[in-house]
Amino acid sequence: MDPQLEAVRVLVVDDEESIREGTDRILSRVGCHVLKACNGAEALAILAEHPVPIVLLDMKMPGLDGLEVLRRIRVLNPETLVIVITGYATLETAVTAMKDGAYDFIPKPFDPDHLLIVVRRATEKLRLVEETRRVNEERRLTLTDLHTEKSRLRTIIESLPNGMAVTNHMGHLVLMNAAFRRLFALDAEKEAGRPIEEYIADEGFCTLVREISEGRHLDAEDIPGYELALGEERYRMAEGRPILGERQDCCGAVISVVDVTSLKLLDRLKSEFVAKVSHELRSPLSTIHEQLAVVLSDIMDVAPESDQQILARAKEKTFGLISLISDLLDLSRIEAGILCRQAQPVQIRDMLNSVTSFLRPRAEAKGQELVLELPSGPALPVVFADPLALESILGNLVTNAITYTPEGGEIRVSADAVGKNLRIRVKDTGLGIEARYLDRIFERFFRVRNDMTRHITGTGLGLPIVKELVGALQGLVEVESTPGQGSTFTVLLPL
Ligand code: ADP
Repeated sequence: MDPQLEAVRVLVVDDEESIREGTDRILSRVGCHVLKACNGAEALAILAEHPVPIVLLDMKMPGLDGLEVLRRIRVLNPETLVIVITGYATLETAVTAMKDGAYDFIPKPFDPDHLLIVVRRATEKLRLVEETRRVNEERRLTLTDLHTEKSRLRTIIESLPNGMAVTNHMGHLVLMNAAFRRLFALDAEKEAGRPIEEYIADEGFCTLVREISEGRHLDAEDIPGYELALGEERYRMAEGRPILGERQDCCGAVISVVDVTSLKLLDRLKSEFVAKVSHELRSPLSTIHEQLAVVLSDIMDVAPESDQQILARAKEKTFGLISLISDLLDLSRIEAGILCRQAQPVQIRDMLNSVTSFLRPRAEAKGQELVLELPSGPALPVVFADPLALESILGNLVTNAITYTPEGGEIRVSADAVGKNLRIRVKDTGLGIEARYLDRIFERFFRVRNDMTRHITGTGLGLPIVKELVGALQGLVEVESTPGQGSTFTVLLPL
């Protein structure tokens, strides 16, 4: 038995019985399944009933000759391998047969080994054909799967409730879903493929998308969200992430967009409510505070000490409430865009002098030194900003420095121009802030609570006000601090 030839079906077509029987014997011995036909018609009848992959076909037969049988087999089943059996005298016929699609030929008379070599070669060819067919089929199935997967992904993206868009590394929009079109009121006919600016008329948004697409924001956690106001009270919040390739190279960006109109309106209602309540509370509280002060001075020498203490604490708490209310009102005004509206040229030297002079008595009362350092060379550039906003920023930072620095400490306020920015620094030798709180101190109502700050009153709104104001002036505020040694707050404002 030969594993390669075992059970391979072979049809021998020859009018010579000795050839048929001899071939049968040789091939059956190695495991082939041999069928026999003594003329062309019989062979075609067998092949019509069950396909046989290999046919040994004599060329010279009475009735239908070999060539005709070959042509008909090719029509019946082009994949059948026909090996032509020919005498030396009919070599020419063999050549014609090969041209007509015969796979091989074997001259008569042939010995067993020669026959086996030719049939083995044919089975190898059959195996290769089968292998190729299988590989092609597998490829077709994989492609079909890929295609199905692609359409499935497309359907999912298309059905997402959030707006979703993808850009390439040049910031060209390559894909957007239905929600994205709806959120930006884009025409359904508008095809993707053009630069992002051709779809969204918001410079800041387009700049951010372009920067992310070009790989200039690789730390996804650090990418700021972007709010777009589309007019007619419509607000959108967009967030983008870079799409990184296998080698961490940026090949574009994916942008997700949600409608935040209702949140914005709710936020505004809340702010208006807070502003109204604060406003209503401020006058009566101020009156109570003033009256408490009057009563306290009136009873200074006549009332018992304990009563004086109760009234003094009430006065102190009332003052705390008044501070909270003014901070809340300031925040409402900043949110409503009122506080930064009056931009005008400000001489920063005068502004710093006035704020430090105003707060120096407070520092001196704590035995602290409040130093203003200004560059000796050319005058500081003029800043174009709302003076009230600048005053509030500096006032809050210097007040904090005084508040959170123990007696006898030092506070240094300095200003200089760096590049296109004005840099103002407020440095103290105070309590300092632990690294884990450095981001949180800019959150509303956040106060560091420990043994050293417990007795210090405050609202937790000073730094949020500073951050909002600096943001409104397109600047930024940073803090560096070492617990126990002091802090430095730096404000950068564009010139
Ligand atoms: P408040 O001072 O009213 O508590 P802020 O928003 O101004 O609110 O400050 C928030 C917190 O940040 C403070 O409670 C304090 O713990 C910390 N902080 C601010 N400035 C300084 C500073 N110069 N030194 C140390 N801690 C500070």
